[in-house]
Amino acid sequence: MNSKEFRNEAHRFVDWMADYLEKVEDFPVKSQVKPGYLNPQIPGSPPEKPELMQEIFTDFQKIILPGITHWQSPNFFAYFPANSSYPSVLAEMLTSTLATQCMIWETSPAAAELEEKMMNWLKQMTKLPAHFHGVIQDTASTATLVALLTARERSTDFKINKTGLENSKFRIYTSSQGHSSIDKAVKIAGFGLDNLVKVSVDDQFRLDTNALRQAVESDIKNGFKPLCVVATLGTTSSTAIDPIEEISKITTRFNIWLHVDAALAGTSLILEENRWMIKGIENVDSLVFNPHKWMFTNFDCSAYFVKDKDSLIRTFAISPEYLKTRTQGQVNDYRDWGIQLGRRFRALKLWFVIRSFGVEGLKKKIAYHIELAKNFESKIIESVYFEMLAPRTLNLVCFRFKLPHIQDETILNQINEKLLNAINSTGKIYLTHTKLNEKYTLRMVIGQTNVAEKHVEQAWEIINDCAARLVNELSP
Ligand SMILES: *Cc1c(COP(=O)(O)O)cnc(C)c1O
Repeated sequence: MNSKEFRNEAHRFVDWMADYLEKVEDFPVKSQVKPGYLNPQIPGSPPEKPELMQEIFTDFQKIILPGITHWQSPNFFAYFPANSSYPSVLAEMLTSTLATQCMIWETSPAAAELEEKMMNWLKQMTKLPAHFHGVIQDTASTATLVALLTARERSTDFKINKTGLENSKFRIYTSSQGHSSIDKAVKIAGFGLDNLVKVSVDDQFRLDTNALRQAVESDIKNGFKPLCVVATLGTTSSTAIDPIEEISKITTRFNIWLHVDAALAGTSLILEENRWMIKGIENVDSLVFNPHKWMFTNFDCSAYFVKDKDSLIRTFAISPEYLKTRTQGQVNDYRDWGIQLGRRFRALKLWFVIRSFGVEGLKKKIAYHIELAKNFESKIIESVYFEMLAPRTLNLVCFRFKLPHIQDETILNQINEKLLNAINSTGKIYLTHTKLNEKYTLRMVIGQTNVAEKHVEQAWEIINDCAARLVNELSP
């Protein structure tokens, strides 16, 4: 392909992109294909001869699109969002054109310096303390692993990096609602899942600090070393908010690293009324949140903040001859702030998004999403056929269908699972589920970039229609 062909195709692609985003609601939001659908449509071996972009693009539309779940549809209410927006997509176009490697300052000074600037902007926007240092990680999972490794090294005077891990006596704590990425990080960091203590929660699914204190004290008595507590702001199941301030009293007292996983909820800190969530933040060692979830910035972009920057860098620093530079020490070489050497230029999309929306525009959208969730919650509360299964704290409503004559929890679980399948088979909206206190729970997350009242209204109608049909099926 030459430049002229590239230009023509790129123009055609941009038209397709704009059309797609305009009519994204017309697609079935959850892909309706069956497992293995793609295999017979793609040759078993790669082509020997070059193929025309026109043909490749036709196949993209014919073969790939049907197998796509449309995360940018405003009818996407599943999981947590992985948002995008026009300014973010534009920045990604430039990023992939520059295709620059941002491992150290010298390999693209603008990327390193813009990253520092953007992390400082985010810090101001969310009112995180000035003493935090920010770096962009690919995902929250990576950031949590980085936090655990840094805690491990700092607590052993950086010895395990050198001599390796033997008979780990470390204990890591999170609530029973902590994200699976914590389990994964504990496995990778060599602590062993047996040493991840899942602390019980209160009736609002928040970490129970008395249980935490007891677990820590009893572990110390038994010769373990409490290393890190991972608190969650906005658990994945129900957006429960762990009490940071109470937890930090325990971590400070016992000299334990306190890491906060605020993957989704962190973005909501740009609203003053949500800052109660970070009461006690002065005693937090690190925090991560995902602009790639709720800040309209393409995946991947996780904002990781750490108090003790020197320990972070000491944990990850490498300095082979071929990466030595004369600016070392004067600038941020982000390869030493995490796991990857090679890094994408991720700060650019954040810069585009924050400037294009303005902080005011971002606040407006987040507040609107929360407002929509509040309205949806009222519908659930008012309806005799549905009930809330967890308090709504932000933009997630946890609910289930109920029938006055059915008390059996197992049957209710089966009915709600059926209901969810029926809802998603319509292709009109997409919701996912969790279990809370063993109850099959439908999760309605209202956070897609362009979601509006009419989408939530329509979703409510579809949920009710599907429920009514289920009742007809059930009655003899
Ligand atoms: C989504 C989520 C994660 C994982 O985020 P990634 O960036 O995909 O690793 C971690 N913790 C919580 C609470 C989440 O909601």
